[in-house]
Amino acid sequence: HPRRTPLMAGNWKMNLDHLQAIAFVQKLAWSLKDARHDFSTVEVAVFPPFTDLRSVQTLISADKLPITFGAQDVSAHQSGAYTGEISAAFLAQLECQYVIIGHSERRTLHNETDEVVAAKVTAALGHNLVPVICVGETAADLAEHGPSAVPVAQLRAALTGVTNAADFVVAYEPVWAIGSGQAATPEQAEQVASALRAVVNEMLGQDVADKTRILYGGSVKASNIAGFMREPNVDGALIGGASLDIAEFSSIARYQ
Ligand code: PEP
Repeated sequence: HPRRTPLMAGNWKMNLDHLQAIAFVQKLAWSLKDARHDFSTVEVAVFPPFTDLRSVQTLISADKLPITFGAQDVSAHQSGAYTGEISAAFLAQLECQYVIIGHSERRTLHNETDEVVAAKVTAALGHNLVPVICVGETAADLAEHGPSAVPVAQLRAALTGVTNAADFVVAYEPVWAIGSGQAATPEQAEQVASALRAVVNEMLGQDVADKTRILYGGSVKASNIAGFMREPNVDGALIGGASLDIAEFSSIARYQ
């Protein structure tokens, strides 16, 4: 099969307001253009806070920037009495292509269970958003169960309601590597990514497994991205801290 197009996804978390977002995305586009970035070879996506999305959409569409974008979370519900929630329909209306679901910070700080994550995945797919399904083990999980057991179980749960017609991305993010400066090794990332691809194969078949992009996330920087990208089952990265630095993120995107 043709190689999956790598995806470099910047998770801004709760950083950059909508004015800062406009300046940032414009400068990121210039930086990539200056570097003659080939967007058909490596896709670059940003995941701003909800309140930035309209501004980012307007800029990207007005200037026809080849950068894709999505939200950092979505409600599991369609509409109604859910104060503070944002629906998949709203995100689709803002031309989000992606939505991050089940980030470890949502799982831990907002008690998102595997069931909630699965419901959000279904809600996103119902509006043709591509879920970026985050899975990953804590340091305690790693010590107790080894590297793959927890991420594999999380992915199985997240894919419960998913059919083989669905388009989704998986992000393997060991919790101990997020924001810690201590990235997994490329070999560790590959081991879990290949176990996750086997889950997709078993649940949804070979074609879906072949086309699904599996990202590594956790302390990715310009200096370590190349090692991850050499692994056959790693198709890009989900990048937190380093995605807020234009030069660094742009050099991650040009990892070769
Ligand atoms: C993340 O939170 O998705 C992440 C990978 O963060 P960082 O790159 O800062 O470790």
